[in-house]
Amino acid sequence: MTKVLYISTECYPAAKAGGMGDVVGALPKYLNKQSVNASVIIPKYKTAWIESKSWQKVHDSKMECGELIIKFKIKKLKKSDLGFPLYTVDIPDYFDRPSIYLAADGHGYPDEAERNILFQRAILDWILESKEAFELLHCHDHMTGLIPFMLQQCRKYKKIANTPVFFTIHNGQYQGSLDWELRNYLPKYKLEHEGLLEWDGRLNSLAAAIKCAWQVNTVSPAYMQELKKEFGSLTALVNHESRKCTGILNGIDHEVWDPKNDNHIDFNLDDSLNTFKQKNKSSLAGKYGLFKTKMLVSFIGRLAYEKGADIIPEAINIVMSKTKDICFILLGSGDPTVGDQLKLADHKYKKNVSSIIAYDEALAHQIYASSDFLMMPSRFEPCGLNQMYAMRYGTIPIARYTGGLKDTVPDFTVGGNGISFDHTTPGELANAILRAKSIFDQKKELYKLRYKISALDFSWDHAASNYAHQYNLLINN
Ligand code: ADP
Repeated sequence: MTKVLYISTECYPAAKAGGMGDVVGALPKYLNKQSVNASVIIPKYKTAWIESKSWQKVHDSKMECGELIIKFKIKKLKKSDLGFPLYTVDIPDYFDRPSIYLAADGHGYPDEAERNILFQRAILDWILESKEAFELLHCHDHMTGLIPFMLQQCRKYKKIANTPVFFTIHNGQYQGSLDWELRNYLPKYKLEHEGLLEWDGRLNSLAAAIKCAWQVNTVSPAYMQELKKEFGSLTALVNHESRKCTGILNGIDHEVWDPKNDNHIDFNLDDSLNTFKQKNKSSLAGKYGLFKTKMLVSFIGRLAYEKGADIIPEAINIVMSKTKDICFILLGSGDPTVGDQLKLADHKYKKNVSSIIAYDEALAHQIYASSDFLMMPSRFEPCGLNQMYAMRYGTIPIARYTGGLKDTVPDFTVGGNGISFDHTTPGELANAILRAKSIFDQKKELYKLRYKISALDFSWDHAASNYAHQYNLLINN
């Protein structure tokens, strides 16, 4: 059994802010059904889930960081029923906070860079000092991007320097581009190789990972192709490292996202998908004061530029000027300006629009179960899990043709799975919603597409064996 450690700042259900949390909470479980023995390590935040569990201390140490001595502990979850062992790095001053990334004002924590560096150092120190012999480290996004560099270049880690590092880019927009001075937070390294840390005059964690990791992947093949064409100043770097860069499409956890056994929803799926949809819609629409039988279109996601939620209010205006036979339910959290715009649409179109500005896991499940269509007007989308959850619950995606949405939502007119449109503009989204309405009005067409997409298999089984294969290639290289 290949012993692998997943290093991440999110893992569902312990701490999740988006898709990376879902991936890290599911993929190790699926790998452990194969020839891999995967564990996960995340920071010990003060989330409700982490607080409610019992932890066993497995390591107690300290590290020097400039003038500071930082104490830390590694703790293991007692009695894990997650399908993998879960470890946390406990550095109280830095992670003892209920929110993963955002301070109360909605902005990132001011000490984000320091906490990421300390988290990564603590893990390498633990691996070095303990008897845990991991054969491969799998790092996720820029918050863990300095690990491949430190492992190879810091004298301190010489003993474990040959451990292969697999690096996954879940979102290339966030790069961990830090003040160059912050390199002083790293343990002593070979100065002649300092250039590996640098990109555009800054310490760039993502660039360092692309340079130093043994293998790099994105969470869909199409997103890797896009980065090779346009990734700002990193385009050249990805092309230069192209031989080790691939794309592996994410899967979804069929146990957590199972319409037949989902505790969050009002009615589980039994024989009839159409009855399942209609009952859940009627229940949810009733709770949120919407018309109960009209076509229901939803949005779930971070209110961030990349997700395109800012164009939804204007798209709704256009749709409402043509027909009032469509309802919308919008769930999101993030940019307060976009949140206000969604709320305005809610006030304006009362029984047609309901906007919930919150992060609500249970409600997300109910929306996937209840909606006829789910919109994803993403400006870019490294993979996107929402469309796959939606399809499993018989909800047809209306998705912009980008990244992982290209791989998963070809247009229904070419035998695909949903409605695809080219540009993130209110006009194009409104047109796509009106195309959806014409499917909705032809029940035979609607039911056919619904049944087809709900039977698609996006489970992790396939991707997990691909990852297991790649790990073996690296280890036996
Ligand atoms: P990203 O990681 O870019 O945010 P993904 O599509 O990969 O996007 O994953 C998003 C995940 O976060 C899905 O599980 C989705 O249901 C969930 N999610 C996003 N926003 C919310 C919210 N406001 N409430 C509940 N779940 C949410």
